[in-house]
Amino acid sequence: MNTAVSDIEVIKAKKTKIHDVDFDHLSFGSTFSDHMLECNYKDGKWQAPKVVPYQPITLDPSAKIFHYGQSVFEGMKAYKDAKNDIYLFRPLDNWKRLNISSKRLAIPEVPESYFMEGLKTLLKLDSEWIPKKEGSSLYIRPFIFATGKGFHASPANEYKFIIACAPSGAYFAGKVKVLIEETYSRSANGGVGFAKAGGNYAGQFYPTQLAVEKGYQQVIWTDDNTHEYIEEAGAMNIFIRINDTLITGPTSDRILDGITRKSIIELAKAEGIAVEVRKISVHEVVAAAKNGSLKEMFGAGTAAVISPISGFGYHGEDFDIPELENTYASLMKKRITDIQTNKCEDPFGWRFKVE
Ligand SMILES: *Cc1c(COP(=O)(O)O)cnc(C)c1O
Repeated sequence: MNTAVSDIEVIKAKKTKIHDVDFDHLSFGSTFSDHMLECNYKDGKWQAPKVVPYQPITLDPSAKIFHYGQSVFEGMKAYKDAKNDIYLFRPLDNWKRLNISSKRLAIPEVPESYFMEGLKTLLKLDSEWIPKKEGSSLYIRPFIFATGKGFHASPANEYKFIIACAPSGAYFAGKVKVLIEETYSRSANGGVGFAKAGGNYAGQFYPTQLAVEKGYQQVIWTDDNTHEYIEEAGAMNIFIRINDTLITGPTSDRILDGITRKSIIELAKAEGIAVEVRKISVHEVVAAAKNGSLKEMFGAGTAAVISPISGFGYHGEDFDIPELENTYASLMKKRITDIQTNKCEDPFGWRFKVE
């Protein structure tokens, strides 16, 4: 799988859009940089990747993405330090996971060199689009979908791999109130919950809408079989602090193997914090909320890094998590973002310089 790509063809945009962008008031993922990487799969192999102007794409109405949902994606970020050097965070893990997701959806795997060299070429060309403001970054969205034609329910014979970039401000940082889900499921044993497959997110929207109507911002997913165990927080992994121990569920068919999650586990251990990777029941969390030992709950994922939870609803009852001064959430967020933005040593070797 190590096809060499020494020189990636670049077709430059005629005109930059960068002057239309207000970098002091960026929202999340809604403004796009000048270029994108594009790579097509046909005749049984991935063709040479190219960097082209960011632009709409034309698809046949019978393209299998529309009918059978063959699509996977990744989410990552690029940062600039004070010297204008460009950094990524554990990018090979995103490449590996993209292929793990693809395999499950019968999509052909992308060679490492296409992903990494393509991404580096794109970032160097659009480097002015990487925000420097504290908390901002260039959100990167690699994705693959079936472009092959036909109403027959079978894997497509043609695909498109794109990497697009969106300069983004700090993800909404407020605390969220969540609802522990007792009816719907995000994923199931033997299913595709471990993959970043497009359809997984479509399936979450309706239960989340119902939670929002009830006054919550997000859903806490529980296991599909019993709804007794806490699994994820929306499209993020979840951490629960009981007394001074940080607990998160083990990855499985149903729980996505988040890069933020595994980084927090290592960082917390390095800080001397007790970490337990084990199943955690709703019952245990409710009991901890009642006896005051539930100190924190937070979501973890690339977009928000860490998203603190203010309280949760379960079985018609609401539980608040009292404000704490020195939270693990803020400590972990600082440790991760300092490594990502080259503000401190990186003893783990997670930071990746783009050059
Ligand atoms: C992407 C994602 C995460 C977080 O993964 P990161 O690698 O940390 O961004 C967690 N859960 C789900 C369901 C996800 O889609």
